Amino acid sequence: ASYNRINEVDDKVKAFLTLNEEQARAHAKTLDEAIAEDRINGMLFGLPGGIKDNIVTKNLRTTCASQLLDNFIPVYDATVVEGLQQASSINIGKLNMDEFAMGSSNENSSYKVTRNPWDIDRVPGGSSGGSAASVAAGEVMFSLGSDTGGSIREPAAYCGVVGMKPTYGRVSRFGLVAFASSLDQVGPLTRTVEDNARVLQEIAGHCEKDSTSADVELPDFSADLQKGVKGLKIAVPKEYIGEGVKPEIKDKVMDALKVLESQGATWEEVSLPHSKYAVAAYYLLSSSEASANLSRFDGVRFGVRHDSSQNLIEMYKETRSKGFGDEVKRRIMLGTFALSSGYYDAYYKKAQQVRHLIKNDFDDVLSKYDVIIGPTAPTVAFKVGEQIDDPLTMYANDILTIPVNLAGVPAISVPCGFSENMPVGLQIIASPFDEKTIYQVAHSYE
Ligand code: GLN
Repeated sequence: ASYNRINEVDDKVKAFLTLNEEQARAHAKTLDEAIAEDRINGMLFGLPGGIKDNIVTKNLRTTCASQLLDNFIPVYDATVVEGLQQASSINIGKLNMDEFAMGSSNENSSYKVTRNPWDIDRVPGGSSGGSAASVAAGEVMFSLGSDTGGSIREPAAYCGVVGMKPTYGRVSRFGLVAFASSLDQVGPLTRTVEDNARVLQEIAGHCEKDSTSADVELPDFSADLQKGVKGLKIAVPKEYIGEGVKPEIKDKVMDALKVLESQGATWEEVSLPHSKYAVAAYYLLSSSEASANLSRFDGVRFGVRHDSSQNLIEMYKETRSKGFGDEVKRRIMLGTFALSSGYYDAYYKKAQQVRHLIKNDFDDVLSKYDVIIGPTAPTVAFKVGEQIDDPLTMYANDILTIPVNLAGVPAISVPCGFSENMPVGLQIIASPFDEKTIYQVAHSYE
């Protein structure tokens, strides 16, 4: 059914980069045999899922939507991919994204631009645009994305699906191609909150192959789904409903708060005063980390080599000049500059200090409230081509999601109505490792 649906719609939606059809059908067959023999096990038994193309899959092409990795076939599976396999889900294929997860619209993919299934003239968001669009278009039941500065939540909001960025350290990064290692997290995109909790259950947990993976208890994420929100305290940051956020989006968030209030929660306005510096700090920090992480793509160890000069340094240059797209080069240049001696204190160190202040803002509010609620993005999905020539406008789409990554806290985007006939996302944020309360609130609202 999944491949039929893909055949039906994917020439318009353009969510998939590589299909895994032969192996998926073979896997499905073994699951059919298991059913016949009454050996059903795995919480995602037989469920078709898609995987963002920056998560490595053994023997299945993994490109990060970059020409540089056009021919890259990994020799191992990411820990999250192993988790899905153990849960008996079926890997349908690899999903389009902005190159190396840098972008907010999918327009930075070097292959094609995924379209928003609600209106194919609009972007699906990014960088996990293929992950969000494939679920919204009914091609798969769930997908995995990655979120460094909003890349799960913003596309989830634009495509009207549920997207969770777990706490930093909750999900293994082993096998996730690193963009900004101190911010990257893998998480699920699904149609319902319950599905989301169930997929997270299978990919979360301590992993010895990731030194930043947290060795903390793994709760049952769906245990409190039916509990409701009676008595819960909600904080609404004034920075999240102020200037820059479209009034219709703010109205939808207010409607959602009324629903939660009618169910017994209370809310108050609070302030996250340093949020206004988040985008600036994020682009310095993430680009700095990216400039170091992407140095491994040198034409020697991975991917496509361009070697017309037969000279090592020229080979590096040619490979990287031809292999990387403009946005990736922009970030590498910005990051290399910010880290260079003489500028380090003025840029990188300063941005780290700002990050600390942002984290303190969240700690402070979350010590007094159960969750923070606001919109996921300041607008609905925009038209393809509308912002691509203006990086600063593009970067501002993540103004409400980026602070969450800098603070390392978990957050979800759930659909909360429509504006301009396009889905609007509600963002629910909680304390580190408290994804359970996020699911509880999201399910109660849903
Ligand atoms: N839009 C942000 C960026 O371009 C977010 C990316 C992400 O979360 N991977 O960096």
